[in-house]
Amino acid sequence: MLVDTHAHLSDKQFDEDRWETLDRAFGGRVAGLVEIADQESQWPAARTLAEQNAGRVFWCPGLHPYYADQTDPELEDRFQAALKHPQSVALGEIGLDYHGDPLPPAVQRAALTRLLSLAVDIGKPVVIHCREADRAARQAQAEMLEIFSRFFPAAPAADRASGVLHCFQGHLDFARACVDRGFMVGVDGPITYPNAAALKAVVQELPLDRLVLETDSPYLPPQPWRGKRNEPSYLETIAAEMARVKGVPLAEVERQTTLNAERLYQVSFQAPKI
Ligand SMILES: [Zn+2]
Ligand SMILES: [Zn+2]
Repeated sequence: MLVDTHAHLSDKQFDEDRWETLDRAFGGRVAGLVEIADQESQWPAARTLAEQNAGRVFWCPGLHPYYADQTDPELEDRFQAALKHPQSVALGEIGLDYHGDPLPPAVQRAALTRLLSLAVDIGKPVVIHCREADRAARQAQAEMLEIFSRFFPAAPAADRASGVLHCFQGHLDFARACVDRGFMVGVDGPITYPNAAALKAVVQELPLDRLVLETDSPYLPPQPWRGKRNEPSYLETIAAEMARVKGVPLAEVERQTTLNAERLYQVSFQAPKI
C-alpha cells in the first residue's frame, strides 16, 4: 500500500480522465493521495476533489513561489480558514524558486516567511518546493535553511514532522539539515532516470523513516513514461526503485513510507474504505 504525498490532479491535463486516473491508482497499490493547490484560484478544485474522495484524497492550500506576489493583508485569514477544512492537511506548496525569470527574491522571502509563521502558529506542517540541484536552487536552499532555523529551531515530537521537502533533487547537506529540523524528504520520478546517480546517493544516505513517495503528477514521470503525462498509479515504479536503491524489500518501503506520510500529514490512509 502506497501514498502519493504530492499530486496536482486538478491540472487541466486530467480534465478528460480524472476519475479514470484515480481509479487506476486506487485499483492498484495506491491507498491515498494528497492534492496540492499552487495558488488560491486552485483551492476550490483541490478541496472538491478531496470531498468527492473522502478517506483517500486530502488537500493542501498553497502559494507556489511563482505566485508569491499574490498577497494582501488578509492572506493569513484565508489560509487559516482553508486549513480548518477537515481534509486540509498541510500548508503548501510554498518556498523559494530562483530559476528562469523569477519574482524578486524579497517578494518570495516575504510570502514564505508570512506563511511559515502562520503554519507554526496553528501547528500545521508545510510542503516546501525546492526542485533542482543547480546554482539557483543552491542559493534558494541556503536562504530557506536560514529561514527554517528561525521557525524550526528544533525537531518536533517523534510522532510529528515540520513538513516535507517535496520532489527533492538537491544536495545531501541541505536534506540532512532539514531532516534535523523535522522535515521529511519527498522522492519522485527522477530517481528512476539514468542520470540520477547523485539523487540515488542522497536517498541511500537518508534514513528510510524520513522518506515519502510522491509523483508530482502531471510533472516528472518515471523513466518508462518520460515525455508523457505523469499519474499516481506510476508511484509503484518509484517505490520499486527506492527499494532497489535502499537495498530493502519493496514491502518495507511500502510500510515505512506510508507510516511516514501519516506522520507528516497527521491522517490515516489505512482506514477501511466504504
Ligand atoms: Zn514544487
Ligand atoms: Zn507540486
